[in-house]
Amino acid sequence: MAVSGKPPYDEQNIFARILRGEIPCRKVYEDEWALAFHDINPQAPLHVLVIPKGKYVAYSDFAAGASDAEIAGYSRAIRAVVVALGLEDDGYRLLTNMGPNSHQEVPHLHVHVFGGRPLGPMLVV
Ligand code: AMP
Repeated sequence: MAVSGKPPYDEQNIFARILRGEIPCRKVYEDEWALAFHDINPQAPLHVLVIPKGKYVAYSDFAAGASDAEIAGYSRAIRAVVVALGLEDDGYRLLTNMGPNSHQEVPHLHVHVFGGRPLGPMLVV
């Protein structure tokens, strides 16, 4: 995947359909920049996905091509989700997958927020 330029965006990816309201989600938070909802297959007691409203495949094209306002808005939205979930005191993990080696499944940028128990070592392979 090219880091510069904008890779093709699949308008039918599942998170695009959630953003358009075509598929339901268990919403946690929404603002001008981002939508957050519970992962359908949670890997921790709290497992929430935060997605930007713009059409970005993954972190690389977002960081390269999004406006400063989008980047700030998305970053602050992630923190707002953490606060809404009550995770600031006990801690949490943020993770985003990008491209084939990461096993990214959905080609719309998303940050996973994990929390609710001690999360153990960083990578399980
Ligand atoms: P990734 O492997 O980083 O692309 O993660 C994709 C995540 O999306 C997985 O954790 C899936 O369980 C989750 N997922 C897929 N479809 C849905 C859906 N309709 N609603 C909520 N989460 C979903």
